[in-house]
Amino acid sequence: MPNSAISARMLAMLHTRTDALSAGDPVPEPLVMTSAFALPHNPKPNRTYARFSNPTVEATEARIAALEDAPSLLFPSGMGAYSAALTALLKQGDTVLMLSDGYYAARNLVSDIMAPFGVTLEACPAAEILTHPLDGIALVVVETPSNPGLDVIDIKALSARCHAVGAKLAVDNTVCTPLLQQPLDQGADVVIVSDTKAMAGHTDVLMGHVASRDPAFMERLLTVRNLTGNIPAPHDAWLLLRGLETLDVRLERMCANARAALPTLQASRHISAVVYPAPHAQCSDQGFLVGATFTDAQTADRFLAKAGFAAMTSFGGLHSSGDRRARWGDAVPEGFLRLSFGVEPTAALTAAITRALAEL
Ligand SMILES: *Cc1c(COP(=O)(O)O)cnc(C)c1O
Repeated sequence: MPNSAISARMLAMLHTRTDALSAGDPVPEPLVMTSAFALPHNPKPNRTYARFSNPTVEATEARIAALEDAPSLLFPSGMGAYSAALTALLKQGDTVLMLSDGYYAARNLVSDIMAPFGVTLEACPAAEILTHPLDGIALVVVETPSNPGLDVIDIKALSARCHAVGAKLAVDNTVCTPLLQQPLDQGADVVIVSDTKAMAGHTDVLMGHVASRDPAFMERLLTVRNLTGNIPAPHDAWLLLRGLETLDVRLERMCANARAALPTLQASRHISAVVYPAPHAQCSDQGFLVGATFTDAQTADRFLAKAGFAAMTSFGGLHSSGDRRARWGDAVPEGFLRLSFGVEPTAALTAAITRALAEL
């Protein structure tokens, strides 16, 4: 789990508001619902109109900036964050290299939406990204561990390769969150996160953010957000803020649950392969996602129902869940489940999994 520097960021995030309280202030962050601000005199930057910002959105951004140790902007979904980051980073004639076995919507954003504006998509598997030629590449976008294969990519090595040819590196840190992995500290230029997953953590809101220590990029990103209207609603930002305050306790239990379930899954005759990232210096925990290949689709679906796992296509929530990725066209066997471990009591959850596997 998080090292002391990251625990310090978590503490700073939790104390962002309490350190600034005055007598009579509400202790938790208030939800400010408004589209406009009183402007009797000359407009003040950022408090003129809610498409530019909102106090609740800004408060949530301050919390994320504390976790990232970098300026951060919020977007109404992970894909909203992707579209803003790519719009700010790319121009006509650029080629972007992405993972062919990474999150599919990120590739489709480039091939369906950005291609007509003159941006070209190139793709290679996560396993080849450190040797793939980078000639003519303006931007490399990776996830690590990749999703759903859970391949780990060495960010430091990849950022050195990118910078040697003048390319920028953006890392999708959705699976690890800034608490378990800090791509900006490893040399990445930009971090993109779907906060819909573990960051918000309660499966009740879509949200995303982009973080970077490059002031010119962040300024461009803000202009993109202002002009495209890609700004989250204050209530959604508030839900994310509430979720963030328990991020480390949730992650601790989720990762512990994944680790506790591993031997049971590995020993089952119904599962031919279990994927869990190997321990890696750049990530302080192997995480809460486990890939498990069941005999067939029916056995995988029966397991989810019997073990009390929600069948859903998301992850990182309070409730353990599973997604049979072949139904979305991922290049995985029909019986492959991406399991996301939740915060249930460890012993009871492990017992439920053992029982479900015995009953299949
Ligand atoms: C879910 C996800 C996204 C997209 O996020 P949304 O909030 O659904 O728009 C991007 N990358 C990864 C790795 C994801 O899991």
